[in-house]
Amino acid sequence: MKTKVVKITDPSLAKTDIEHAGRCIRDGGLVVIPTETVYGLGGDGTNPQSARKIYSAKGRPSDNPLIIHISEPRDAEKYAYTNDVYYKLADAFMPGPLTVVLPKKEIIPNEVTGGLNTVAVRCPSHPVARAIISEAGVPIAAPSANISGKPSPTSAEHVICDLDGKVDMIIDGGECDIGLESTIVMVNSDNSLTLLRPGGITYDALLCVCEDVFISPTIEGVLSENERPLSPGMKYKHYAPTSPLVLLCGDQDKITRFLCNEQQRTRCLILCYDEEISALSNKGLIPIGRHDDIQMQAKKLFSALREADRYMPDVIYAHLPDKDGLGLALYNRMIRAAAHTVKEIK
Ligand code: AMP
Ligand code: MG
Repeated sequence: MKTKVVKITDPSLAKTDIEHAGRCIRDGGLVVIPTETVYGLGGDGTNPQSARKIYSAKGRPSDNPLIIHISEPRDAEKYAYTNDVYYKLADAFMPGPLTVVLPKKEIIPNEVTGGLNTVAVRCPSHPVARAIISEAGVPIAAPSANISGKPSPTSAEHVICDLDGKVDMIIDGGECDIGLESTIVMVNSDNSLTLLRPGGITYDALLCVCEDVFISPTIEGVLSENERPLSPGMKYKHYAPTSPLVLLCGDQDKITRFLCNEQQRTRCLILCYDEEISALSNKGLIPIGRHDDIQMQAKKLFSALREADRYMPDVIYAHLPDKDGLGLALYNRMIRAAAHTVKEIK
């Protein structure tokens, strides 16, 4: 298939392309859309055939459900059974990087939800995504637009690399603002929340809206073999570079000294803080932002992991992030990419 790549920065200046993308989704095609989190591989969320196409283009197991994207928070009513907690969350965080898992209505096919009786709903804030969803007139089912097992794409170049020839259109909306996938919460029957995946909406922000927020143990821990996570995606090894990734913790100066030594001893690649650049040899360095700038580190992480893989180093080193605020999301993605390999530098 020939993939059409279209650049859109302002949807009001790209009416024809938006119409084309909307029609393509409605007609059962696949369109990659930019969002504020990562790029999404979109198809009609009410069409089982579109869902099958998404799984096949991504190479994703079909028991790992898709998130449906809506252009207005109240549209959730059409596809799921909402409640007061949903509307509290919607008022506080939508449009934005929050996905809410709710009981699904009949119109959403089992193919989209991986057979679950719940559906994950999100209203993105990216103007191009919202324009395409609203033009399509159907919810857009969209997982991250990467080949399964690769880091989520945060630029159109990443998407082209993974999906050129496998989708009808790729909409290039520039670099994603947040760079990590959305926060996912499940609303429990007692109106408490379970945080299934940390993201741009932090645990503390959720606590401001809902008193009881439980953190799913899979976010920080390893699943035992027969354990079934609440969010099926959590059982898959994600975002793993080909070279082993080792996360370093301990005193910052000692870590920098360790990295200096390793640069002489091995063919290593380092995802370093900006402050470390001057102390290290510039061979094999990928700066990911200042030590205290978690937002920048989140924005650059997936792109850095893709770049790191291109060098085919013996080992990739990175810093183990703190779990505060957005740090929890960064920690979760990094610990999974590293298959929980953490080295303490003493
Ligand atoms: P991705 O689209 O690649 O960001 O992945 C979507 C994530 O949403 C996966 O990890 C799924 O496990 C999760 N998800 C989607 N639908 C549900 C649902 N109904 N219940 C729990 N988790 C879900
Ligand atoms: Mg994904």
